[in-house]
Amino acid sequence: MEVIKISPRGYCHGVVDAIAQMKHIAGDPSVERPIHILGKVVHNQKIVDDLEALGLRTVHEEGVSRLELLNRVDRGTVVFTAHGVSDSVYNKAVSRGLNVIDTTCRDVRTSQRTIAEHLEKGYDVLFIGKENHPESETATGYEGVHLITSVKDVESFSTHNKHIAVTNQTTMSLFDIYSIHKAIQKRFPDATLIDEVCDATRMRQLAIKNQPADVEHCFVVGDRHSNNSNKLRDVSMQAGVPATLVESVEDIKIGLLQGLRKVSVTSGASTPTAITREVIEFLTAYDPSDASTHRTRSQVKQRNLFLKE
Ligand code: SF4
Repeated sequence: MEVIKISPRGYCHGVVDAIAQMKHIAGDPSVERPIHILGKVVHNQKIVDDLEALGLRTVHEEGVSRLELLNRVDRGTVVFTAHGVSDSVYNKAVSRGLNVIDTTCRDVRTSQRTIAEHLEKGYDVLFIGKENHPESETATGYEGVHLITSVKDVESFSTHNKHIAVTNQTTMSLFDIYSIHKAIQKRFPDATLIDEVCDATRMRQLAIKNQPADVEHCFVVGDRHSNNSNKLRDVSMQAGVPATLVESVEDIKIGLLQGLRKVSVTSGASTPTAITREVIEFLTAYDPSDASTHRTRSQVKQRNLFLKE
């Protein structure tokens, strides 16, 4: 089968930096033990498992905020992930006597600064993001920030403040942002619109939008909980190319491949390269009339994936 390898794809600089810091921390005896990571470093369970094996414990529970998770860390070191944390989380960690290591991505810091600057100037800030995402949690930790998850939220939002600034989570779909911006402009024509989708996310989404017109199906390799991977699938579908999110080659349904001649592959910012490579190799070798090319068992070793990047 013909396979278009969409580029850029895979790890972004924020994830690469965070993983490099994790490796360093794990090997540095001067870092106070035990070492806890507050929330998942990336939404990829394989990487979380590898970090556990190196002695870095991830403190995470779906739906539980980072502020609450901190109650479970009473000594040693706490590591903040690339998603960033609010001032309240930072201050609570310090007041609990924890050694703090912060791996917040520089693009997330820029987004946080934008919010703080507009609040200082007296704006109401509308933050377009996903409920319970760490970036949304951090943004809504500021008084005066309102989470907008859909056009519906825009319709129900009201304020007497004439100064409204609109910003967003760095990994949102450009399509979603623009449709929500349109709805905001309709209700609040003077609102200041600030697009904070990070360059890594933007380039990956635009590459999908601009994939060849004759691609029949797009495979996005990523963890099902990864927001940016889900958004890549959405972008492909919004651009008119049916798309499927697969965590590895094992999720590919042979029935789906029937009749397809040209497909594309991309991957989320937290997907180990080896897993994506295996998906590309499988699809390239796939021959509908040769059953030996239909085996979807993964050969990628599940341990220490990120150590090999
Ligand atoms: S997706 Fe963007 S903001 Fe998030 S870690 Fe990667 S580079 Fe940073």
